[in-house]
Amino acid sequence: MPAEIIDGRAVAKRLQAEIGEHVKDFVASAGAAPGLGVVLVGDDPASAMYVRMKRRACERVGIHSEAHILPASATQQEVESAIRAFNCDQSIHGILVQLPMPDHIDEEAALNVVGLAKDVDGIHPVNLGLLGMRGREPSFTPATPTGVMILINETGAQIEGAEAVVIGRSNIVGLPVALMLANANATVTICHSRTRDLAKVVKRADILVAAVGRAEYVQGDWLKPGAVVIDVGSNSVPAPESEKGYRYVGDVDFEAARSVAGHITKVPGGVGPMTITMLLANTLKAAQRSLAVAS
Ligand code: NAP
Repeated sequence: MPAEIIDGRAVAKRLQAEIGEHVKDFVASAGAAPGLGVVLVGDDPASAMYVRMKRRACERVGIHSEAHILPASATQQEVESAIRAFNCDQSIHGILVQLPMPDHIDEEAALNVVGLAKDVDGIHPVNLGLLGMRGREPSFTPATPTGVMILINETGAQIEGAEAVVIGRSNIVGLPVALMLANANATVTICHSRTRDLAKVVKRADILVAAVGRAEYVQGDWLKPGAVVIDVGSNSVPAPESEKGYRYVGDVDFEAARSVAGHITKVPGGVGPMTITMLLANTLKAAQRSLAVAS
């Protein structure tokens, strides 16, 4: 039987409707909308597109969004000043620094400037560190990994005691997903570019999260039958038949994998919509906390 599709778009739509209701309650109590501040540096078309998508998603749920758009020639000091301005702005509850930034910008130093209470992307080193510590809670968990966890939970699969394999160890996806799975009591294996015999490691996964950045890399016959497969990958590949000339595929060979897996996400329409939704959820959470502190 082919795997059940985990419909990220439908889950995201449901959650965004709930967020929209909570935003209305917030506006009724606070007299103003939750606010997201976005810092975009340079003219990378993909980054500009992500920022537009985030702005539209904010509008849909009633979150106010503002962007500081700086030219590619902006200095480190200018970027950090833009972030500091949002830190001091009481109408802004969450700050998103769109990555990647131009090469001459020290991203780590810039991200360190984001106030912890406004780190709605959850990638401040302190928040990531807290995520990895027993018994500690970060202010926010990162958007994509949080979305991944929700999609796994949607399947009804038991995470506790499960063998989970995460391919990828980046600071924004692989590592935090692995920490969140371990916090949910899975037995976690992290794979990366030096992992020996990846197929053999993947075979033992009850839950597989692929965050590699290589188009259709994970093969169907690597999977354990019935596995939950979450494909984070978003890779553009040539598609001369389409109007745009390209299309997006995941890190997993979807057609081969769906006949082995128990549940699987699609690309597009899986993790992507969840990432934006989690950013909205974290912005709302930041705003609610600021109201609780003020009252
Ligand atoms: P990244 O920073 O490039 O990290 C890729 C990871 O994959 C690294 O840890 C790397 O290992 C590992 N890797 C590379 N080749 C490998 C191989 N042959 N075997 C095993 N592991 C290998 O990428 P990322 O930022 O985590 O993103 C991963 C993918 O997710 C990309 O396609 C990205 O576009 C997508 N993404 C999607 C969303 C979304 O919302 N849908 C959000 C973020 C990212 P090393 O550490 O050894 O180099």
